[in-house]
Amino acid sequence: MRFDIITIFPRMFDNYLSESIIKRARKRRLLDIRMHDLRTWTTDRHRSVDDRPFGGGPGMVMMVGPFHRALKSLRIRDRRKTRVILLSAKGKTFSHREAVRLSKYRRIVLLCGRYEGVDERVARHLADEEISIGEYVLTGGELPALVVLDAVARQVPGVIGKAVSLQEESHATEGVTEYPQYTRPADYSPAKGQHWRVPQVLLSGNHSKIAEWRARKSRHLPKKKAK
Ligand code: SAM
Repeated sequence: MRFDIITIFPRMFDNYLSESIIKRARKRRLLDIRMHDLRTWTTDRHRSVDDRPFGGGPGMVMMVGPFHRALKSLRIRDRRKTRVILLSAKGKTFSHREAVRLSKYRRIVLLCGRYEGVDERVARHLADEEISIGEYVLTGGELPALVVLDAVARQVPGVIGKAVSLQEESHATEGVTEYPQYTRPADYSPAKGQHWRVPQVLLSGNHSKIAEWRARKSRHLPKKKAK
């Protein structure tokens, strides 16, 4: 699966995408991730990507032109198999279900905003959808782009070693979160006379009892109201 990230801070992505699971998936060519500096597509000597908002108001707004030229230069061949996403605090809230849906595309293009936001014509004419990662405002779309990329990448076959771990994870079944996990030592002593013990059932070796305990301990979140 290919990801193109359009940002004014391409180097912000380097560390995260060069470690661990994502690094391995890139090496195995399961993920092809490319960062693009939006300033490549500016037209003035200051390499400006923003300007003052029409109608007045605080801050600067990112211009439509650089995004338009950036997308043209990516030469997206099959629009049906590609999703262009604008990261936006006013977009649709991201979820596990959205990650699974997006993982079915061949290519995802992530547009990162900055400043006071992005000229609305980007959302209207260039992006297929606007995604928010939660009801708060960040300084830029780079962290949201990484969040979306990471969650989608986990759903790409082969990226996570054991497919079964995806099935048992939180939110794999809507509204259900995973049971509590423990590892060694079975009895941890944080201070003299104190013990933090692992539930006995997990040490019992009785698989049906363990499955029953885990099912009981999985949390069922209240159903979200449809928007
Ligand atoms: N003035 C905008 C508003 O009130 O919605 C916020 C702009 S924010 C400072 C700059 C950029 O950060 C946005 O264009 C968007 O790309 C990104 N961003 C901020 N919060 C986000 C969120 N919760 N989800 C996705 N992107 C976000």
